Amino acid sequence: MSELLYPPRFLALAAEYPEWTLCRVLSQGKGQYRILSAQGEQLAVVSGKFRYETEVPSDYPAVGDYVMADINHGDTAVIQHVLHRQSVFLRRAAGTAKKEQAVAANIDTVFLCMSLNHDLNLRRLERYLTVAWDSGALPVVVLTKRDLCSDDTHILAEVQRVALGVDVLTTSALQHAWDALQTYILPGKTVAFVGSSGVGKSTLINCLLGTEQLETNGLRNDDKGRHTTTRRELLILPNGAMVIDTPGMRELGMWDAAEGMLSAFSDIETLAAQCRFQNCTHQGEPGCAVRAALERGELETERWHSYGKLMAENAFTADADSYLAAKEKKFKEIARYNKTNRKR
Ligand code: GDP
Ligand code: ZN
Repeated sequence: MSELLYPPRFLALAAEYPEWTLCRVLSQGKGQYRILSAQGEQLAVVSGKFRYETEVPSDYPAVGDYVMADINHGDTAVIQHVLHRQSVFLRRAAGTAKKEQAVAANIDTVFLCMSLNHDLNLRRLERYLTVAWDSGALPVVVLTKRDLCSDDTHILAEVQRVALGVDVLTTSALQHAWDALQTYILPGKTVAFVGSSGVGKSTLINCLLGTEQLETNGLRNDDKGRHTTTRRELLILPNGAMVIDTPGMRELGMWDAAEGMLSAFSDIETLAAQCRFQNCTHQGEPGCAVRAALERGELETERWHSYGKLMAENAFTADADSYLAAKEKKFKEIARYNKTNRKR
């Protein structure tokens, strides 16, 4: 059992609850948690009182939370209280506009990973940065696979312009160059990696662990194991630093993508609503307003392609359904608006 280092801040908060034991949440599943205390690892549930008094889903324990639990309660420990979070990543619960869920808590540094061999999407980076700043964690941009990029000066300058005041690091797992990360990987500190599948997050985590604990190649189904507590989602590094690695955090960039896209590409969505066929794929159907705008030069080809790429990415998210529903609604509204306007 690796020893868990408790930051002084949480030790101080825990002192107010001498009857319970300070634990950290390693993973969360359906109403069940895996927690770690000085006594070791065990499964846990929240107490009846906790459930009764907690109205907001985001107040329930999440991976990374420091909790006070009754661990001498038989097989399963009972979580009584969640200590005040230093940072938290929230995600809107499926199907509800206002209800948020906590995805991970008490992350000190979040590495926003993008690979240098793919065209960098600065808009996605902006999205990562927004979510990171909102969480209370410190964002650090990590440009991976440096070995696959012959000249990164131009890219670095571009990234630095978007990520004002944020550290920008480059790594290459292939060349064993990931030292730059170590500045943030300190005993008792918690980090997390976010970024699209395949950018090299698992590879970097394995480098830090010094083992091939995580499967790599970027092809794994990141949704696997989402509702089980078998897989640890908080890993303890040899030096006492911790890494939170959950599907929810990995998907970070896709959060609110639906909303972001509706506003970021409203020009394209407006055009699409004017196509003759409602299910137009804009691949050459007659009466396609998108094609027409491209031919007239009113819509930049590059912009159209980045929209297509984002759409493809979006299809992988759990929120794809709600995205499509929202989009359809928006399209209908736009179509209705255009119809009434044309009549006038
Ligand atoms: P993840 O989906 O972000 O966790 O990505 P993985 O860590 O699974 O990596 C995806 C693929 O990129 C794997 O085939 C890795 O071997 C490869 N990869 C990761 N880091 C590097 C790197 O620094 N350089 C190169 N050339 N390949 C890398
Ligand atoms: Zn069309």
